Amino acid sequence: MKSLLMHSPIAIAMLWIGSYLAITLLPLLVLLLYPPNESRGFWTEFSVALGFIGLAMMALQFVITARINRIEASYGVDILLQFHRYISLVAFGLILIHPALLFINQPETLQLLNVFEAPWRARAAVAGTLALIVLVVTSIWRQPLNIPYEPWRILHGVLAVTALALGLAHALGVSYYLSLFWKELLWSAIAIIALLLLAYVRLVKPWFMAKKLYLVEEVVPQRGDVWTLVLRPQGHEGMPFEPGQFAWITLNISPFRMREHPFSMSSSGDRGDRLEFSIKALGDFTRQIKDVEPGTKAYLDGPYGVFTTERYFDTAGFVLIAGGIGITPMMSMLTTAAERQDDRPFLLIYASKTWEDVTFRDELDTLTEKIDLKIVHVLRKPPEDWQGETGYIDRDLLNRYIPIHRGSRQYFICAAPVVMDQVELALHELNVPVTNIHMEHFNLV
Ligand SMILES: Cc1cc2nc3c(=O)[nH]c(=O)nc-3n(C[C@H](O)[C@H](O)[C@H](O)COP(=O)(O)OP(=O)(O)OC[C@H]3O[C@@H](n4cnc5c(N)ncnc54)[C@H](O)[C@@H]3O)c2cc1C
Repeated sequence: MKSLLMHSPIAIAMLWIGSYLAITLLPLLVLLLYPPNESRGFWTEFSVALGFIGLAMMALQFVITARINRIEASYGVDILLQFHRYISLVAFGLILIHPALLFINQPETLQLLNVFEAPWRARAAVAGTLALIVLVVTSIWRQPLNIPYEPWRILHGVLAVTALALGLAHALGVSYYLSLFWKELLWSAIAIIALLLLAYVRLVKPWFMAKKLYLVEEVVPQRGDVWTLVLRPQGHEGMPFEPGQFAWITLNISPFRMREHPFSMSSSGDRGDRLEFSIKALGDFTRQIKDVEPGTKAYLDGPYGVFTTERYFDTAGFVLIAGGIGITPMMSMLTTAAERQDDRPFLLIYASKTWEDVTFRDELDTLTEKIDLKIVHVLRKPPEDWQGETGYIDRDLLNRYIPIHRGSRQYFICAAPVVMDQVELALHELNVPVTNIHMEHFNLV
């Protein structure tokens, strides 16, 4: 019973949430158990408590974004990043309320804002808060501010480390000044853990990646401005994965440079020794794929993701809903099913712009001969003699094709964000249980 609990995905996911809450509230516990010698009044203590929680939450952001496989496997990267975004705002709010309460309650503390005369621990707090404000503004408004992804990611990392280091320096400085031994110890431990995590992400992970080299075997053109990059492991067994998962690819540069892009594997999950990534030419990096030479070095960080058919052995069948390049994880699921001679029914509802654009059109046709696969193509700009579905995947269309016993299938959606939202809503309206709907977002940021 005990071991069943420990291995149940829900139990593990709950365990992580429990750990998160415990660490966030730990500084508060230390504050309660070891209060300062002289009471500073309720509002001051309350303000300090909020600052402590905010700072602990900031430190935990490093854990959430460190791509630790065990944590990621419980939720999926997109859920973790969604949590990262929202909880950052909560931490930011708590950190701003912390001085605001002090200023209202003890107006003389406003002098601490005078960075020329204030003690260093107050200067650290002011500088850290400024770094945090820039961090939040550039993250929420990255696209309207026209900041390209790569420079933004570097700036984001630098500002996050700066804000946390200054925040910890402030907390340590105040603890030292007030001779609060336990708090000093706690913040030192948090600082060391944050530093270790940074070393893990920046040095240990890239080092492991560098030890597992892949070479590009070929680049195969596909319909719809898509190129399939075929990778072969060199001197190791490759990367086993669950069909539908993805990996971060570094191409032709050292993994220590940290310029990687996420792509779903489009090949069979049982062929970790020959990995295929089908990539649509959309931006700086993806437009270069077609010119990649065979023999180019590649490094992978993965597999990641919970968007996989693998976890539903007892389901009666699958409904896959793809739009454009969202077909890649589905292709992996279907190819794996064909290799395993999976006899469960698969329904693929696949939206494309034109008939010529349909990526994997011919490969999908071949798959219908190997597994119980029904394909519904939906075209936005159909040819004149087109007899099939047109327009968008909406509620009426779904209602015509999905099985009457809605809960008997698992539903996987991967498409443009607006399409995914509409399909999700339509499935809810058609009484598909929420636990049977799985989504993969290609736009993490
Ligand atoms: C889980 C997942 C699976 C994906 N699978 C596929 C796939 O199978 N096939 C495919 O063609 N595309 C896939 N993508 C999308 C792909 O990662 C982006 O299109 C690509 O990184 C864009 O890079 P770019 O420099 O060409 O475009 P840019 O024009 O520079 O960027 C366009 C947008 O892509 C995002 N982006 C850019 N660089 C990165 C990066 N390094 N890391 C994360 N996001 C970035 C940003 O939101 C940016 O605004 C996937 C994305 C995710 C999150």
